Amino acid sequence: MNFPGRFAGYTPDGEGIFLAKVDDESKRLIDRREITECEVLLRDGRTLTVRQSNTIHALVGDITAYISAPLPAAWRRAATETLRELELLFVFDKTDKEEVRRAVTRNFCRASDIELFSLSPKSGNCADMTTANEFIAYLLELCVTHGIPCSEELIKRAEDVGRYLYACVANRRCCICGQKADIHEVDFVGMGRNRRKMHHLGQRVQPLCRGHHGERGQIGQAAFDRRYHLDSVRLDEHLCRTLGWKI
Ligand SMILES: [Zn+2]
Repeated sequence: MNFPGRFAGYTPDGEGIFLAKVDDESKRLIDRREITECEVLLRDGRTLTVRQSNTIHALVGDITAYISAPLPAAWRRAATETLRELELLFVFDKTDKEEVRRAVTRNFCRASDIELFSLSPKSGNCADMTTANEFIAYLLELCVTHGIPCSEELIKRAEDVGRYLYACVANRRCCICGQKADIHEVDFVGMGRNRRKMHHLGQRVQPLCRGHHGERGQIGQAAFDRRYHLDSVRLDEHLCRTLGWKI
């Protein structure tokens, strides 16, 4: 989970660090999800890797293909709404990958309250590895939230698999192929328990389409997790509410 904030310095006793800023949106998120733990990212200055750069370009390529695909007239209004939600409505040439990349980078930097960065190691403001990871997670969430079809399994592009899986559960997307998914329980639910009345908080789940659910049934959970380098997601209150499941 990323809460945009800025490392400001040491606490007066020199024993700790403090974050100077947590914006209103982050505060609302913390309240809504009743989050009590946070993680501090220390940006170590190493520039992004070639693999990260390739992943970002691949994701931007898929987003560009999605927003520039010709549509029947009847779908245009919905498409305009999607573009607005993606904050890409004002991209002049929607077939231009570079223009789309600049637009999504601007949106990400504004949402994260950080300076604009470049992907070129030669530039003075090249993204560091931590920022690149956060940017990849942001692009993956855009794809998952809007059901953007991608040219390869998104899980292979996820550097933070836990965060990616969380977004897949919240949006009911198959974490392997991106199709519409059902949420499957990883822990066995014993016979005789009424699923509608049972509590789901803390339960482990995976979002899987019918095909991948069938595959999991055939080869078993452990082999399935190894094949796709998968983990499961533990349901928190926010996910239970999003799914409409009893907490
Ligand atoms: Zn699938």
